[in-house]
Amino acid sequence: MINLIIMFLIMSTIGILTLPFCVSDKMEPILLIHGGAGDIPESRVANKIAGLKKSVDIGFKFLQNGGNALDAVEAAVRYMEDDENFNAGYGSVLNLDGEVEMDASIMVGSNLGAGAVTVVKDIAHPISLARLVMEKTPHVLFAGAGANKLAEEHGIPTVAPGSLVTKAAKDALERFKRKGGDLTEIGHKNPGDVGTVGAVALDCHGNLAAATSTGGINGKMVGRSSDTCMLGSGTYADNDFGAVSTTGHGETIAKYCLAISIIREMGIGKSAQTATKETLENMTKRLNNTAGAITLSKNGDPGIYFTSRRMGWAYRKGNELHYGINHDEHEIECLKSL
Ligand code: ASP
Repeated sequence: MINLIIMFLIMSTIGILTLPFCVSDKMEPILLIHGGAGDIPESRVANKIAGLKKSVDIGFKFLQNGGNALDAVEAAVRYMEDDENFNAGYGSVLNLDGEVEMDASIMVGSNLGAGAVTVVKDIAHPISLARLVMEKTPHVLFAGAGANKLAEEHGIPTVAPGSLVTKAAKDALERFKRKGGDLTEIGHKNPGDVGTVGAVALDCHGNLAAATSTGGINGKMVGRSSDTCMLGSGTYADNDFGAVSTTGHGETIAKYCLAISIIREMGIGKSAQTATKETLENMTKRLNNTAGAITLSKNGDPGIYFTSRRMGWAYRKGNELHYGINHDEHEIECLKSL
């Protein structure tokens, strides 16, 4: 055994063996994330961009180290669930009773493994609970109290009731109740009430994953489920085609099965960008509500588009960080190589 370890160390030193394990794999990893589509007010733009940059950096570290796409999307989403500038986890919008009820889903493209949760309360990271559904149960979707019971059984902590509620969320609900909201155009009358989060990744082994997490829509009815927990609407990943995470008016996205509709267009040969743009434009034309999506093709080509006023997004590939939040905005920063 000791001989084997010594041989391994010598081979590593002279470069015959190289760690981490991506050397023989062909794909260049990429992580693409979004921080919600909607009528995001100017006052929220800087914080959202800062959160997106941090999140994509955290998730991309997994890919750089030869890790898998699933860990990368989960890590990126977990970061945004903790950041109150996004409508997921801490900082989620409130239902009509003033409570946080959250939805999340996660999917891997290698075997179409998937897990989701809906109407869960007092869980800091719904995306990790969705992953637990995928990995530890024979089911794909858990709701409400059952989801909390599952979390407890597997050691995922329940946080104190009300601890995910922020002042901004309370104020937004107050405004909604006072002035009346417009549930068909998120954020239109309640600017800033949006910010569902999502991530799609391709790892160096050629595997895709997608994840999406949300607090839903401000002033929603108690018990409302969103597109975000629905596979094929909020989230989809299939190594044969691509991966998608969506955001925007949930009922519209659900009726249009937005994620799988984008995948279908890639299946007939369209690029990730064309499929994302055309599908969103057709959806908005047909159903008169807005949304956004991030997409990766099976080769890791990104597609980013939104019919809403804004959608924050960012991606890391190699040493480049790309990001934007307005239409036709695409900033690029070259980062120092490792
Ligand atoms: N799609 C989410 C929902 O309807 C909201 C969003 O993406 O901002 O709950």
